[in-house]
Amino acid sequence: MTAGGNGTLPVTNPRTGEIDYRVKAWSADEIAGATSSLRDEARAWEALGVDGRCAALEAWGEALAARRGELGEALTIDTGRRTFAHFEVQKAIDLISHWSRRAPALAAEARGGQSAQVPSVHYRHRLVPYPVVGIISPWNVPLILALIDAVPALAAGCTVLLKPSEVTPRFTVPLVEALTEVPALARVLRVVTGGPATGAAVIDQADAVCFTGSVATGRLVAAHAAQRFIPAFLELGGKDPAIVTATADLDNAARAIVRSAIGMTGQACQSLERVYVQAAVYPAFREKVVAEAERVQLNWPDIDSGQIGPLIFPPQAEKIQAQLDDAVARGARILCGGRIERHGGGRWCLPTVLENVSDEMQLMREETFGPLIPLVPFNSSDEAVRRANDSNFGLSAAVFAGTEDEAIAIAEQLEVGAVSINDASLTGIVNDVEKNSFRLSGLGGSRMGDSGFRRFLRKRALLIQTAEAAPITLFSEGQVPAQEPGSGP
Ligand code: NAD
Repeated sequence: MTAGGNGTLPVTNPRTGEIDYRVKAWSADEIAGATSSLRDEARAWEALGVDGRCAALEAWGEALAARRGELGEALTIDTGRRTFAHFEVQKAIDLISHWSRRAPALAAEARGGQSAQVPSVHYRHRLVPYPVVGIISPWNVPLILALIDAVPALAAGCTVLLKPSEVTPRFTVPLVEALTEVPALARVLRVVTGGPATGAAVIDQADAVCFTGSVATGRLVAAHAAQRFIPAFLELGGKDPAIVTATADLDNAARAIVRSAIGMTGQACQSLERVYVQAAVYPAFREKVVAEAERVQLNWPDIDSGQIGPLIFPPQAEKIQAQLDDAVARGARILCGGRIERHGGGRWCLPTVLENVSDEMQLMREETFGPLIPLVPFNSSDEAVRRANDSNFGLSAAVFAGTEDEAIAIAEQLEVGAVSINDASLTGIVNDVEKNSFRLSGLGGSRMGDSGFRRFLRKRALLIQTAEAAPITLFSEGQVPAQEPGSGP
Protein backbone atom coordinates (compact mmCIF):
# COMPACT_ATOMS: atom_id res chain seq x y z
CA MET A 1 0.00 0.00 0.00
CA THR A 2 1.48 3.38 -0.93
CA ALA A 3 0.67 6.60 0.87
CA GLY A 4 -1.86 8.97 -0.69
CA GLY A 5 -0.97 12.52 -1.74
CA ASN A 6 -1.44 13.79 1.80
CA GLY A 7 1.00 11.20 3.21
CA THR A 8 -1.67 9.03 4.81
CA LEU A 9 -2.83 5.45 4.34
CA PRO A 10 -6.46 4.24 4.37
CA VAL A 11 -7.50 1.96 7.24
CA THR A 12 -10.39 -0.51 7.02
CA ASN A 13 -12.75 -1.12 9.92
CA PRO A 14 -12.92 -4.93 10.26
CA ARG A 15 -16.57 -4.93 11.39
CA THR A 16 -17.92 -2.71 8.62
CA GLY A 17 -15.41 -3.19 5.82
CA GLU A 18 -15.38 0.60 5.45
CA ILE A 19 -12.37 2.82 5.27
CA ASP A 20 -13.18 5.07 8.21
CA TYR A 21 -9.71 6.14 9.30
CA ARG A 22 -6.44 7.32 7.81
CA VAL A 23 -3.00 6.95 9.32
CA LYS A 24 0.04 9.09 8.69
CA ALA A 25 2.78 7.36 6.70
CA TRP A 26 6.08 8.67 7.99
CA SER A 27 8.54 9.45 5.20
CA ALA A 28 12.15 8.31 5.15
CA ASP A 29 13.27 11.87 5.95
CA GLU A 30 10.96 12.05 8.95
CA ILE A 31 12.25 8.69 10.20
CA ALA A 32 15.82 9.96 9.80
CA GLY A 33 14.89 13.08 11.82
CA ALA A 34 13.25 11.04 14.58
CA THR A 35 16.29 8.76 14.75
CA SER A 36 18.64 11.67 14.99
CA SER A 37 16.78 13.01 18.04
CA LEU A 38 16.83 9.49 19.56
CA ARG A 39 20.59 9.36 19.07
CA ASP A 40 20.90 12.72 20.84
CA GLU A 41 19.02 11.26 23.83
CA ALA A 42 20.60 7.80 23.88
CA ARG A 43 23.53 8.57 26.21
CA ALA A 44 21.41 10.37 28.79
CA TRP A 45 18.89 7.49 28.79
CA GLU A 46 21.64 4.96 29.36
CA ALA A 47 23.24 7.16 32.02
CA LEU A 48 19.92 7.38 33.88
CA GLY A 49 20.59 3.83 35.02
CA VAL A 50 18.25 0.91 35.11
CA ASP A 51 16.34 2.13 38.18
CA GLY A 52 15.65 5.51 36.61
CA ARG A 53 14.58 3.91 33.35
CA CYS A 54 12.28 1.46 35.11
CA ALA A 55 10.74 4.33 37.11
CA ALA A 56 9.92 6.07 33.81
CA LEU A 57 8.45 2.83 32.42
CA GLU A 58 6.34 2.36 35.54
CA ALA A 59 5.04 5.92 35.25
CA TRP A 60 4.03 5.10 31.68
CA GLY A 61 2.31 1.92 32.90
CA GLU A 62 0.29 4.09 35.30
CA ALA A 63 -0.58 6.55 32.53
CA LEU A 64 -1.72 3.64 30.36
CA ALA A 65 -3.77 2.20 33.22
CA ALA A 66 -5.48 5.59 33.60
CA ARG A 67 -6.39 5.39 29.89
CA ARG A 68 -7.26 1.71 29.81
CA GLY A 69 -10.82 2.37 28.64
CA GLU A 70 -9.74 4.61 25.77
CA LEU A 71 -6.94 2.28 24.74
CA GLY A 72 -9.18 -0.77 24.93
CA GLU A 73 -11.85 0.88 22.79
CA ALA A 74 -9.34 2.01 20.14
CA LEU A 75 -8.05 -1.57 19.98
CA THR A 76 -11.63 -2.81 19.80
CA ILE A 77 -12.17 -0.82 16.61
CA ASP A 78 -8.79 -1.91 15.25
CA THR A 79 -9.49 -5.60 15.77
CA GLY A 80 -13.30 -5.91 15.88
CA ARG A 81 -13.19 -7.79 19.23
CA ARG A 82 -13.69 -6.24 22.65
CA THR A 83 -12.85 -8.69 25.45
CA PHE A 84 -9.46 -9.54 24.03
CA ALA A 85 -8.77 -5.85 23.29
CA HIS A 86 -9.18 -4.99 26.96
CA PHE A 87 -7.24 -8.11 27.96
CA GLU A 88 -4.40 -6.84 25.75
CA VAL A 89 -4.34 -3.54 27.62
CA GLN A 90 -4.02 -5.33 30.95
CA LYS A 91 -1.28 -7.56 29.52
CA ALA A 92 0.61 -4.49 28.31
CA ILE A 93 0.46 -2.97 31.80
CA ASP A 94 1.62 -6.31 33.27
CA LEU A 95 4.45 -6.48 30.74
CA ILE A 96 5.73 -3.09 31.89
CA SER A 97 5.53 -4.13 35.57
CA HIS A 98 7.29 -7.41 34.81
CA TRP A 99 10.29 -5.76 33.16
CA SER A 100 10.41 -2.93 35.71
CA ARG A 101 10.79 -5.55 38.42
CA ARG A 102 13.12 -7.91 36.57
CA ALA A 103 15.45 -5.55 34.68
CA PRO A 104 17.48 -4.23 37.67
CA ALA A 105 18.72 -7.72 38.57
CA LEU A 106 19.58 -8.51 34.96
CA ALA A 107 21.35 -5.19 34.44
CA ALA A 108 23.49 -5.86 37.53
CA GLU A 109 24.85 -8.98 35.88
CA ALA A 110 27.97 -7.25 34.54
CA ARG A 111 30.84 -9.24 35.95
CA GLY A 112 34.56 -9.20 36.20
CA GLY A 113 37.18 -11.81 36.84
CA GLN A 114 40.45 -13.30 35.78
CA SER A 115 41.21 -14.94 32.47
CA ALA A 116 41.80 -18.66 32.95
CA GLN A 117 43.90 -18.64 29.78
CA VAL A 118 46.16 -15.68 30.66
CA PRO A 119 45.97 -15.38 34.46
CA SER A 120 47.75 -12.01 34.55
CA VAL A 121 44.78 -10.50 32.69
CA HIS A 122 41.80 -9.38 34.72
CA TYR A 123 38.63 -8.17 33.09
CA ARG A 124 35.45 -6.24 33.67
CA HIS A 125 32.36 -6.49 31.53
CA ARG A 126 30.24 -3.52 30.61
CA LEU A 127 26.79 -4.04 29.11
CA VAL A 128 26.31 -1.67 26.20
CA PRO A 129 22.81 -1.18 24.79
CA TYR A 130 22.13 -0.73 21.08
CA PRO A 131 21.54 3.02 20.83
CA VAL A 132 18.46 2.74 18.57
CA VAL A 133 16.35 -0.39 18.27
CA GLY A 134 13.80 -0.47 15.43
CA ILE A 135 10.64 -2.46 16.13
CA ILE A 136 8.21 -3.48 13.39
CA SER A 137 5.02 -5.23 14.48
CA PRO A 138 1.93 -6.91 12.95
CA TRP A 139 -1.82 -6.39 13.20
CA ASN A 140 -3.09 -9.52 14.92
CA VAL A 141 -2.29 -8.53 18.52
CA PRO A 142 -1.42 -4.90 17.89
CA LEU A 143 -0.60 -3.54 21.34
CA ILE A 144 1.21 -6.50 22.90
CA LEU A 145 3.30 -7.19 19.82
CA ALA A 146 4.24 -3.50 19.62
CA LEU A 147 5.43 -3.51 23.24
CA ILE A 148 6.78 -7.02 23.79
CA ASP A 149 10.25 -6.05 22.52
CA ALA A 150 10.02 -2.29 23.10
CA VAL A 151 9.69 -2.49 26.90
CA PRO A 152 12.73 -4.72 27.59
CA ALA A 153 14.76 -2.76 25.01
CA LEU A 154 13.96 0.51 26.82
CA ALA A 155 14.67 -1.04 30.23
CA ALA A 156 18.04 -2.24 28.87
CA GLY A 157 18.95 1.35 27.95
CA CYS A 158 18.17 1.40 24.22
CA THR A 159 16.06 4.06 22.59
CA VAL A 160 13.25 2.73 20.40
CA LEU A 161 11.76 3.55 17.03
CA LEU A 162 8.47 1.65 17.00
CA LYS A 163 6.45 1.07 13.83
CA PRO A 164 3.20 -0.79 14.46
CA SER A 165 1.14 -2.27 11.64
CA GLU A 166 -0.66 0.14 9.32
CA VAL A 167 -3.66 -2.24 9.41
CA THR A 168 -4.48 -1.52 13.09
CA PRO A 169 -3.07 1.91 13.99
CA ARG A 170 -5.88 3.53 16.02
CA PHE A 171 -4.51 2.34 19.35
CA THR A 172 -1.30 4.33 18.85
CA VAL A 173 -3.19 7.57 19.59
CA PRO A 174 -3.95 6.86 23.30
CA LEU A 175 -0.61 5.04 23.56
CA VAL A 176 1.29 8.17 22.53
CA GLU A 177 -0.96 10.44 24.62
CA ALA A 178 -0.02 8.41 27.69
CA LEU A 179 3.62 8.71 26.67
CA THR A 180 3.50 12.52 26.67
CA GLU A 181 2.82 12.32 30.42
CA VAL A 182 6.28 10.82 30.91
CA PRO A 183 8.63 13.22 29.10
CA ALA A 184 11.78 11.23 29.93
CA LEU A 185 10.31 8.25 28.07
CA ALA A 186 8.72 10.30 25.28
CA ARG A 187 12.22 11.45 24.33
CA VAL A 188 13.47 7.89 23.81
CA LEU A 189 10.44 6.06 22.44
CA ARG A 190 9.14 7.35 19.11
CA VAL A 191 6.04 5.73 17.66
CA VAL A 192 6.10 6.11 13.89
CA THR A 193 3.25 4.94 11.70
CA GLY A 194 3.14 3.81 8.11
CA GLY A 195 3.43 0.79 5.86
CA PRO A 196 6.28 -1.16 4.25
CA ALA A 197 8.18 1.95 3.09
CA THR A 198 8.18 3.35 6.63
CA GLY A 199 9.28 -0.07 7.94
CA ALA A 200 12.16 -0.12 5.47
CA ALA A 201 13.14 3.41 6.55
CA VAL A 202 13.23 2.21 10.18
CA ILE A 203 15.66 -0.57 9.20
CA ASP A 204 17.75 2.01 7.33
CA GLN A 205 18.25 3.94 10.58
CA ALA A 206 18.26 1.44 13.45
CA ASP A 207 21.22 -0.32 15.10
CA ALA A 208 19.18 -3.52 15.62
CA VAL A 209 15.74 -4.56 14.46
CA CYS A 210 13.00 -6.67 16.06
CA PHE A 211 10.44 -7.82 13.53
CA THR A 212 7.22 -9.74 14.13
CA GLY A 213 5.27 -10.66 11.02
CA SER A 214 5.06 -12.98 8.04
CA VAL A 215 7.85 -15.13 6.66
CA ALA A 216 7.69 -13.27 3.34
CA THR A 217 8.30 -9.89 4.96
CA GLY A 218 10.74 -11.47 7.42
CA ARG A 219 12.95 -12.49 4.50
CA LEU A 220 12.98 -8.88 3.21
CA VAL A 221 13.72 -7.54 6.67
CA ALA A 222 16.54 -10.07 7.22
CA ALA A 223 18.12 -9.22 3.85
CA HIS A 224 17.83 -5.50 4.50
CA ALA A 225 19.32 -5.83 7.99
CA ALA A 226 22.13 -8.01 6.61
CA GLN A 227 22.96 -5.28 4.08
CA ARG A 228 23.26 -2.83 6.95
CA PHE A 229 25.09 -5.39 9.10
CA ILE A 230 22.68 -4.99 12.02
CA PRO A 231 21.13 -7.87 13.96
CA ALA A 232 17.55 -8.81 13.09
CA PHE A 233 15.45 -10.66 15.66
CA LEU A 234 12.67 -12.29 13.68
CA GLU A 235 9.42 -13.77 15.05
CA LEU A 236 7.49 -15.13 12.09
CA GLY A 237 4.62 -17.40 11.16
CA GLY A 238 3.64 -20.88 12.27
CA LYS A 239 1.72 -23.98 11.27
CA ASP A 240 1.49 -25.50 14.71
CA PRO A 241 0.59 -29.19 14.97
CA ALA A 242 -1.21 -30.96 17.83
CA ILE A 243 -0.84 -34.67 18.50
CA VAL A 244 -3.57 -36.47 20.45
CA THR A 245 -2.76 -40.04 21.49
CA ALA A 246 -5.24 -42.77 22.35
CA THR A 247 -4.56 -42.37 26.07
CA ALA A 248 -5.30 -38.62 26.17
CA ASP A 249 -8.15 -37.01 28.08
CA LEU A 250 -10.22 -36.31 24.96
CA ASP A 251 -12.49 -33.71 26.55
CA ASN A 252 -9.50 -31.72 27.73
CA ALA A 253 -7.78 -32.07 24.35
CA ALA A 254 -10.87 -31.00 22.39
CA ARG A 255 -11.43 -28.00 24.67
CA ALA A 256 -7.81 -26.81 24.44
CA ILE A 257 -7.48 -27.42 20.71
CA VAL A 258 -10.66 -25.54 19.84
CA ARG A 259 -9.66 -22.64 22.09
CA SER A 260 -6.21 -22.47 20.49
CA ALA A 261 -7.29 -22.94 16.87
CA ILE A 262 -10.40 -20.79 16.91
CA GLY A 263 -9.73 -18.22 19.63
CA MET A 264 -8.92 -14.78 18.21
CA THR A 265 -10.46 -16.17 15.01
CA GLY A 266 -7.26 -18.17 14.51
CA GLN A 267 -5.30 -14.96 14.00
CA ALA A 268 -2.41 -15.88 16.28
CA CYS A 269 1.02 -17.15 15.30
CA GLN A 270 0.74 -19.98 17.86
CA SER A 271 -2.77 -21.08 16.83
CA LEU A 272 -2.97 -24.83 16.27
CA GLU A 273 -3.47 -25.39 12.54
CA ARG A 274 -3.04 -29.19 12.15
CA VAL A 275 -4.41 -31.89 14.46
CA TYR A 276 -3.12 -35.48 14.35
CA VAL A 277 -5.29 -37.95 16.29
CA GLN A 278 -4.58 -41.62 17.03
CA ALA A 279 -6.91 -43.74 14.91
CA ALA A 280 -8.38 -45.69 17.85
CA VAL A 281 -9.89 -42.52 19.34
CA TYR A 282 -10.39 -40.57 16.13
CA PRO A 283 -14.20 -40.97 15.84
CA ALA A 284 -14.80 -40.03 19.49
CA PHE A 285 -12.40 -37.10 19.31
CA ARG A 286 -13.88 -35.81 16.05
CA GLU A 287 -17.31 -35.73 17.64
CA LYS A 288 -16.06 -33.76 20.63
CA VAL A 289 -14.14 -31.24 18.53
CA VAL A 290 -17.08 -30.63 16.22
CA ALA A 291 -19.44 -30.19 19.20
CA GLU A 292 -17.01 -27.75 20.82
CA ALA A 293 -16.49 -25.80 17.55
CA GLU A 294 -20.22 -25.61 16.89
CA ARG A 295 -20.76 -23.92 20.24
CA VAL A 296 -18.59 -20.99 19.16
CA GLN A 297 -20.55 -17.90 18.11
CA LEU A 298 -19.52 -14.90 16.07
CA ASN A 299 -19.52 -11.58 17.90
CA TRP A 300 -21.99 -10.29 15.34
CA PRO A 301 -24.26 -8.32 15.39
CA ASP A 302 -23.56 -7.64 19.06
CA ILE A 303 -19.87 -7.20 19.79
CA ASP A 304 -20.58 -8.08 23.41
CA SER A 305 -21.78 -11.58 22.53
CA GLY A 306 -20.11 -14.67 21.07
CA GLN A 307 -16.46 -15.66 21.18
CA ILE A 308 -14.84 -14.68 17.90
CA GLY A 309 -14.54 -11.48 15.95
CA PRO A 310 -14.13 -10.67 12.27
CA LEU A 311 -11.06 -11.31 10.19
CA ILE A 312 -9.04 -8.16 10.71
CA PHE A 313 -7.23 -7.98 7.38
CA PRO A 314 -9.50 -8.49 4.32
CA PRO A 315 -6.82 -10.15 2.13
CA GLN A 316 -6.46 -12.78 4.87
CA ALA A 317 -10.12 -13.75 4.36
CA GLU A 318 -9.40 -14.39 0.68
CA LYS A 319 -6.42 -16.54 1.58
CA ILE A 320 -8.50 -18.64 3.99
CA GLN A 321 -11.23 -19.08 1.37
CA ALA A 322 -8.60 -20.14 -1.19
CA GLN A 323 -7.24 -22.74 1.24
CA LEU A 324 -10.76 -24.07 1.85
CA ASP A 325 -11.47 -24.23 -1.89
CA ASP A 326 -8.19 -26.03 -2.55
CA ALA A 327 -8.89 -28.56 0.24
CA VAL A 328 -12.43 -29.29 -0.93
CA ALA A 329 -11.28 -29.63 -4.56
CA ARG A 330 -8.74 -32.22 -3.38
CA GLY A 331 -11.33 -34.22 -1.45
CA ALA A 332 -11.47 -32.72 2.06
CA ARG A 333 -14.79 -33.05 3.92
CA ILE A 334 -16.08 -30.12 5.94
CA LEU A 335 -17.66 -31.21 9.24
CA CYS A 336 -18.78 -27.78 10.38
CA GLY A 337 -18.40 -24.17 9.28
CA GLY A 338 -16.50 -24.01 6.02
CA ARG A 339 -17.05 -20.54 4.71
CA ILE A 340 -16.33 -16.86 5.00
CA GLU A 341 -19.51 -14.95 5.84
CA ARG A 342 -20.15 -11.29 5.14
CA HIS A 343 -22.00 -9.39 7.87
CA GLY A 344 -22.39 -5.64 7.88
CA GLY A 345 -19.53 -5.30 5.40
CA GLY A 346 -17.06 -7.27 7.57
CA ARG A 347 -15.68 -10.74 6.95
CA TRP A 348 -16.18 -13.53 9.46
CA CYS A 349 -15.05 -17.14 9.26
CA LEU A 350 -17.11 -19.80 10.96
CA PRO A 351 -15.17 -22.29 13.08
CA THR A 352 -14.37 -25.01 10.58
CA VAL A 353 -13.42 -28.63 11.22
CA LEU A 354 -12.24 -30.66 8.23
CA GLU A 355 -11.25 -34.25 7.63
CA ASN A 356 -9.99 -36.37 4.79
CA VAL A 357 -7.19 -33.88 4.37
CA SER A 358 -3.87 -34.74 2.78
CA ASP A 359 -0.38 -33.44 3.39
CA GLU A 360 -0.09 -31.61 0.06
CA MET A 361 -3.17 -29.42 0.58
CA GLN A 362 -2.42 -25.69 1.03
CA LEU A 363 -4.12 -25.69 4.40
CA MET A 364 -1.66 -28.33 5.65
CA ARG A 365 1.43 -26.55 4.31
CA GLU A 366 0.86 -22.79 4.47
CA GLU A 367 -0.05 -20.65 7.44
CA THR A 368 -3.85 -20.15 7.51
CA PHE A 369 -4.29 -17.50 10.22
CA GLY A 370 -7.97 -18.40 10.45
CA PRO A 371 -10.20 -20.73 12.51
CA LEU A 372 -9.69 -23.99 10.62
CA ILE A 373 -9.08 -27.37 12.29
CA PRO A 374 -7.95 -30.09 9.86
CA LEU A 375 -8.12 -33.52 11.56
CA VAL A 376 -5.75 -36.30 10.50
CA PRO A 377 -5.84 -39.86 11.94
CA PHE A 378 -2.52 -41.62 12.61
CA ASN A 379 -1.57 -45.16 13.56
CA SER A 380 1.76 -44.91 15.36
CA SER A 381 3.46 -42.11 17.25
CA ASP A 382 6.34 -42.33 14.75
CA GLU A 383 3.89 -41.52 11.97
CA ALA A 384 2.43 -38.61 13.99
CA VAL A 385 5.89 -37.16 14.65
CA ARG A 386 6.94 -37.54 11.00
CA ARG A 387 3.83 -35.79 9.72
CA ALA A 388 3.94 -33.06 12.36
CA ASN A 389 7.58 -32.37 11.42
CA ASP A 390 6.74 -32.30 7.71
CA SER A 391 6.57 -28.50 7.65
CA ASN A 392 8.76 -25.50 6.89
CA PHE A 393 7.62 -23.91 10.15
CA GLY A 394 8.84 -24.66 13.67
CA LEU A 395 7.12 -22.24 16.02
CA SER A 396 5.39 -24.48 18.56
CA ALA A 397 3.19 -27.56 19.00
CA ALA A 398 0.96 -29.36 21.48
CA VAL A 399 0.88 -32.98 22.66
CA PHE A 400 -2.00 -34.59 24.54
CA ALA A 401 -1.37 -38.00 26.14
CA GLY A 402 -2.41 -39.98 29.21
CA THR A 403 0.89 -39.50 31.01
CA GLU A 404 3.48 -36.76 31.04
CA ASP A 405 6.17 -39.31 30.09
CA GLU A 406 4.29 -40.42 27.00
CA ALA A 407 3.69 -36.82 25.94
CA ILE A 408 7.29 -35.77 26.60
CA ALA A 409 8.66 -38.71 24.59
CA ILE A 410 6.73 -37.37 21.60
CA ALA A 411 7.43 -33.70 22.34
CA GLU A 412 11.21 -34.30 22.36
CA GLN A 413 11.03 -35.37 18.71
CA LEU A 414 9.21 -32.30 17.42
CA GLU A 415 11.24 -29.73 15.45
CA VAL A 416 9.71 -26.71 17.15
CA GLY A 417 10.72 -24.14 19.76
CA ALA A 418 8.05 -24.92 22.37
CA VAL A 419 5.63 -27.76 23.07
CA SER A 420 2.55 -27.34 25.26
CA ILE A 421 1.72 -30.57 27.04
CA ASN A 422 -1.91 -31.38 27.83
CA ASP A 423 -2.83 -27.82 26.87
CA ALA A 424 -2.32 -25.67 23.79
CA SER A 425 -0.58 -22.41 22.84
CA LEU A 426 0.82 -21.91 26.33
CA THR A 427 3.47 -19.59 24.90
CA GLY A 428 0.66 -17.09 24.35
CA ILE A 429 0.26 -16.69 28.11
CA VAL A 430 3.61 -17.84 29.51
CA ASN A 431 6.12 -15.19 28.50
CA ASP A 432 8.75 -15.76 31.17
CA VAL A 433 10.02 -19.11 29.83
CA GLU A 434 12.74 -18.93 27.17
CA LYS A 435 12.13 -20.45 23.76
CA ASN A 436 13.48 -20.08 20.25
CA SER A 437 11.56 -20.24 17.01
CA PHE A 438 12.83 -23.04 14.75
CA ARG A 439 13.00 -23.24 10.96
CA LEU A 440 11.12 -20.50 9.08
CA SER A 441 9.33 -19.39 12.24
CA GLY A 442 12.11 -17.12 13.37
CA LEU A 443 15.70 -16.21 13.99
CA GLY A 444 17.64 -14.67 16.86
CA GLY A 445 17.69 -15.02 20.63
CA SER A 446 14.62 -15.86 22.69
CA ARG A 447 12.22 -12.95 23.12
CA MET A 448 10.68 -14.80 26.05
CA GLY A 449 12.29 -14.99 29.50
CA ASP A 450 15.44 -13.14 30.56
CA SER A 451 17.01 -13.40 27.09
CA GLY A 452 14.29 -11.00 25.98
CA PHE A 453 16.25 -8.35 27.90
CA ARG A 454 19.83 -9.59 27.50
CA ARG A 455 19.70 -9.61 23.71
CA PHE A 456 19.58 -5.79 23.68
CA LEU A 457 22.93 -5.55 25.45
CA ARG A 458 26.32 -6.10 23.95
CA LYS A 459 29.28 -6.99 26.16
CA ARG A 460 32.27 -4.70 26.18
CA ALA A 461 35.23 -6.38 27.90
CA LEU A 462 37.81 -4.21 29.66
CA LEU A 463 40.97 -6.36 29.69
CA ILE A 464 43.48 -5.25 32.33
CA GLN A 465 47.05 -6.56 32.15
CA THR A 466 48.52 -6.85 35.64
CA ALA A 467 51.93 -8.14 34.48
CA GLU A 468 54.46 -6.39 32.29
CA ALA A 469 53.40 -6.11 28.67
CA ALA A 470 55.25 -8.57 26.41
CA PRO A 471 57.88 -7.07 24.04
CA ILE A 472 58.10 -7.59 20.26
CA THR A 473 60.91 -10.09 20.83
CA LEU A 474 58.13 -12.50 21.72
CA PHE A 475 57.84 -12.97 17.96
CA SER A 476 61.60 -13.28 17.25
CA GLU A 477 62.15 -15.97 14.65
CA GLY A 478 64.28 -19.00 15.44
CA GLN A 479 62.51 -19.79 18.72
CA VAL A 480 60.43 -22.77 17.56
CA PRO A 481 61.42 -25.74 19.75
CA ALA A 482 62.99 -28.57 17.75
CA GLN A 483 60.46 -31.33 17.15
CA GLU A 484 61.15 -34.82 18.43
CA PRO A 485 61.57 -37.25 15.52
CA GLY A 486 58.21 -38.86 14.78
CA SER A 487 56.18 -36.27 16.77
CA GLY A 488 54.96 -34.45 13.63
CA PRO A 489 51.60 -34.94 12.03
P1 NAD B 1 3.46 -8.59 7.63
O1 NAD B 1 4.75 -9.32 7.44
O2 NAD B 1 2.60 -8.35 6.46
O3 NAD B 1 3.72 -7.14 8.27
C1 NAD B 1 4.36 -6.98 9.51
C2 NAD B 1 4.94 -5.58 9.61
O4 NAD B 1 5.96 -5.42 8.63
C3 NAD B 1 3.95 -4.45 9.35
O5 NAD B 1 4.18 -3.43 10.31
C4 NAD B 1 4.33 -3.96 7.97
O6 NAD B 1 4.04 -2.60 7.73
C5 NAD B 1 5.83 -4.18 7.97
N1 NAD B 1 6.47 -4.31 6.66
C6 NAD B 1 5.92 -4.78 5.51
N2 NAD B 1 6.85 -4.79 4.53
C7 NAD B 1 8.00 -4.33 5.07
C8 NAD B 1 9.31 -4.13 4.57
N3 NAD B 1 9.64 -4.40 3.30
N4 NAD B 1 10.26 -3.66 5.41
C9 NAD B 1 9.96 -3.39 6.70
N5 NAD B 1 8.73 -3.56 7.23
C10 NAD B 1 7.77 -4.03 6.43
O7 NAD B 1 2.70 -9.40 8.76
P2 NAD B 1 1.20 -9.21 9.26
O8 NAD B 1 0.29 -9.68 8.18
O9 NAD B 1 1.05 -7.83 9.80
O10 NAD B 1 1.14 -10.21 10.50
C11 NAD B 1 0.77 -11.54 10.42
C12 NAD B 1 1.99 -12.44 10.49
O11 NAD B 1 2.70 -12.20 11.70
C13 NAD B 1 1.64 -13.91 10.50
O12 NAD B 1 2.50 -14.62 9.64
C14 NAD B 1 1.90 -14.31 11.95
O13 NAD B 1 2.19 -15.67 12.13
C15 NAD B 1 3.06 -13.45 12.29
N6 NAD B 1 3.18 -13.32 13.73
C16 NAD B 1 4.22 -13.93 14.37
C17 NAD B 1 4.33 -13.87 15.76
C18 NAD B 1 5.47 -14.55 16.49
O14 NAD B 1 5.70 -14.23 17.66
N7 NAD B 1 6.18 -15.49 15.88
C19 NAD B 1 3.38 -13.17 16.49
C20 NAD B 1 2.32 -12.58 15.81
C21 NAD B 1 2.24 -12.64 14.43
